[in-house]
Amino acid sequence: MSTPGTLYIVATPIGNLEDISARALRILKEAALIAAEDTRHSSRLLQHFGINTPLAACHDHNEREQGGRFINQLLAGESVALISDAGTPLVSDPGFHLVRQARAANIPVVPIPGACAAIAALSAAGLPSDRFIFEGFLPAKTTARRTRLEALKEEERTLIFYEAPHRLLESLQDLSAVLGGARLAVLARELTKTFETIKDAPLAELCCWVEADANQQRGECVLLVAGWEPLQKDELSAEAIRVLELLLAELPLKRAAALAADITGARKNALYQHALEKQNKT
Ligand code: SAM
Repeated sequence: MSTPGTLYIVATPIGNLEDISARALRILKEAALIAAEDTRHSSRLLQHFGINTPLAACHDHNEREQGGRFINQLLAGESVALISDAGTPLVSDPGFHLVRQARAANIPVVPIPGACAAIAALSAAGLPSDRFIFEGFLPAKTTARRTRLEALKEEERTLIFYEAPHRLLESLQDLSAVLGGARLAVLARELTKTFETIKDAPLAELCCWVEADANQQRGECVLLVAGWEPLQKDELSAEAIRVLELLLAELPLKRAAALAADITGARKNALYQHALEKQNKT
């Protein structure tokens, strides 16, 4: 039996209905009420599993006011299960205010874990997973998006973003422009569904791939980007090498190295060594 008066935070599938857990199904059956982001959407899921528990709306627009009703029901000893349209509630989904109110009222809050697109994508991406940050959705407008990305430029942990299909290409282009086209990224699309695709490539290449194939701009997707790798002491950035090589075409080696150091901030000696090695090879 479920504990009376408990708020259960229940994860539901992100596509494949087999991903619901036996525990989630039991809690959804036993709860007095299911608080759902979209009751019409969730009623289809519940119907599929033969669950007849009453549903009530709990979405971004009514969560604060409606929270009081759920809290009263919980305080009266009835259990409430919170679900969202897909995956884990509160992860880029409503529920934060309700959970906060419940905890403030000393109501037990119990997670029923399951699918989450960010974690599913990370588990299969092949990017470092020991430390990562979840950034949710990037801002919809280019200027705000680029400002957010600028702040993440030197983030060393793997970055995880949610993105809407119609903004995928512009976001990839901004990621490439701000973090550099050479940075490795992974596009995880339609996870657990028929057209599941997990593609890894440097950002610049990923942009071209998505641009060339309209199918990649459909469905739901998670974007993961490798964290920034600080340069070793005498290592030169791609930009420093590009500037040096442009100057070498016009100037003597020593002058080119000095100017490239001034322009890029890279170490003059490292640039000089690089230019010498390049000269010796040709
Ligand atoms: N709470 C959900 C979770 O636990 O993943 C996320 C909800 S958020 C409103 C929806 C976003 O999650 C989508 O825009 C997409 O970025 C990502 N997403 C959800 N399902 C997905 C799937 N099957 N494949 C890839 N991304 C998915």
